Amino acid sequence: MSEVAAFIRAVRELYRQPDGAIPLHAPTLGEREKALVSQAIDSTYVSSVGRFVTVFEQQVADYVGARYAVATVNGTAALHTALQAVGVTSGDLVLTQALTFVATANAIRYCGADPVFLDVDASTLGLSPAAVDEWLTQHAVRRDDGVTVHRTSGRVVRACVPMHTLGHPVRIDALVRVCDAWGVTVVEDAAEALGSRYQGRHVGTFGRLGVFSFNGNKIITTGGGGMVVTNDEALACRARHLTTTAKRPHPWAFEHDEVGYNYRLPNLNAALGVAQMERLDDLLARKRTLALRYAALCDSHGWSWIDEPPGARSNFWLCGLMLPDVQTRDHWLGRTNEQQIGTRPLWTPMHRLPMYQHCLRDALTVTEEWAARVLNVPSTPPPQ
Ligand SMILES: *Cc1c(COP(=O)(O)O)cnc(C)c1O
Repeated sequence: MSEVAAFIRAVRELYRQPDGAIPLHAPTLGEREKALVSQAIDSTYVSSVGRFVTVFEQQVADYVGARYAVATVNGTAALHTALQAVGVTSGDLVLTQALTFVATANAIRYCGADPVFLDVDASTLGLSPAAVDEWLTQHAVRRDDGVTVHRTSGRVVRACVPMHTLGHPVRIDALVRVCDAWGVTVVEDAAEALGSRYQGRHVGTFGRLGVFSFNGNKIITTGGGGMVVTNDEALACRARHLTTTAKRPHPWAFEHDEVGYNYRLPNLNAALGVAQMERLDDLLARKRTLALRYAALCDSHGWSWIDEPPGARSNFWLCGLMLPDVQTRDHWLGRTNEQQIGTRPLWTPMHRLPMYQHCLRDALTVTEEWAARVLNVPSTPPPQ
């Protein structure tokens, strides 16, 4: 039996599903979700006002250990809001990784800024603190007023957006240290990483702001949804203001003091989120069991398993293997999908997309290698 055939058989055994489709990641929904969504409908508060939004925000804030949480219509909107809240503006540069989902770069562009694509660490798949340090040392200078600018263009390096790839935490403590030394604000794209911790502390709470997504393919879902978390009261207020059309509080008058957004999560979606938060710990435990089984499988076949980084506890949002080369990886992609086993490559790195080809970047050596060799495999928590 070929290696990929052995893999397909093992996945079918894991899911106790001898035939039919096994998706890459499906949401886990049940009676509780139906009950709370029904309650939202019965209340008639289905839109941007209603008690579930506040409850959901409080649940997420408590869970991650942040003082404030602001719910948004999706994770991309949460990122856009967070970047705008820390003052990312037209002409700025924002450091991020090339190996990410396109939303990270798009949110930077929505602010009129340009991303600078830097390499990831092989041990985390996330933004490398050394790459950030090296780029800043070579290409930036900190002015007397504390603002860091790009040497040749004079453009302000306003923020840095590390992304916790596949739910595996980046070396966020080292990143924050480097960025603090340069006066560059860290906003964490933790869209994939709800439930992931670095040295015991939940990701998304190390930067000035952190962002989560509750899209249908994430570990928990609100259909569509996102969240900005922070410990900074002023930033939380700013984020809330921006997401609610910048409306001044008033019993009846419509007064808006800047161009805001209609980004607030509807109550209907929040109801789903409240039910999903109740099962998060169970989903995390089942994901970990699945990851251990994949790890054992890889071990017995000599395949390279992508494990959680040292010092980190990952939510294992998407499980992945590192195949020897792009040919093997593409062969596995073809064979598995033919057999209805949902596998996927990582994203095409941002610097190769037409709208981001002009952006500044470093050599991206690790990025290119991982982009060519990773195979994400079915990661829905199997029934126990
Ligand atoms: C899912 C995701 C987002 C955006 O989330 P949406 O809710 O789909 O808008 C942003 N960044 C990363 C890395 C993601 O995986």
